[in-house]
Amino acid sequence: MQISETLVAAIRREFPHFRIVPKRHDLLSQVLDRLLRIITFGSQNQFMASYHTVIGNTLYVPDAWERTSDVDRAIVLRHERVHLRQRRRHGFLLFAFLYLVPIFPIGLAYGRARLEWEAYAETLLATAELKGLAAANDVALREKIIERFTGGDYGWMWPFRHQIERWYEQTLSDLAEHDSAPRGLDRTNIEDDE
Ligand SMILES: [Zn+2]
Repeated sequence: MQISETLVAAIRREFPHFRIVPKRHDLLSQVLDRLLRIITFGSQNQFMASYHTVIGNTLYVPDAWERTSDVDRAIVLRHERVHLRQRRRHGFLLFAFLYLVPIFPIGLAYGRARLEWEAYAETLLATAELKGLAAANDVALREKIIERFTGGDYGWMWPFRHQIERWYEQTLSDLAEHDSAPRGLDRTNIEDDE
């Protein structure tokens, strides 16, 4: 079985109503796409084409999902599983509040940045585990992730680039330590228990 299919099965054991829906033919996604273009002054125009979005138990996938490799799908699923767990931890309303409302003072969405940071730390961990530490240290990936925080895609959610860079370096150095530690049979499962 493919890694991503195994992960979907694991997510369904944890969140039985989890499902994956393509954005292209979904009305809610089309409405969100319009809304995001408006509140980011047209800066977020890739919502349908390349962004993954979790709402409730549903992962809405962009057009690119069909062409995404098994390993890259697995990395996305690991990131989105963090958001599912955040929602369970905070409850839907608080999660939606932390995630959505702070958009409005555009450029200072701290609650949102914290939630995304936790999810991107998992993206880096999954990348290191599935593609190797060198892939997690890739400069293009670093730029893409930092840009998600400081750029218009998420409404300039946290524009303090130095702070994001420090977070990033810290996460990578934690990963390097993690990587040099003795390996368990399956670190993904070990990590779930922490
Ligand atoms: Zn995210």
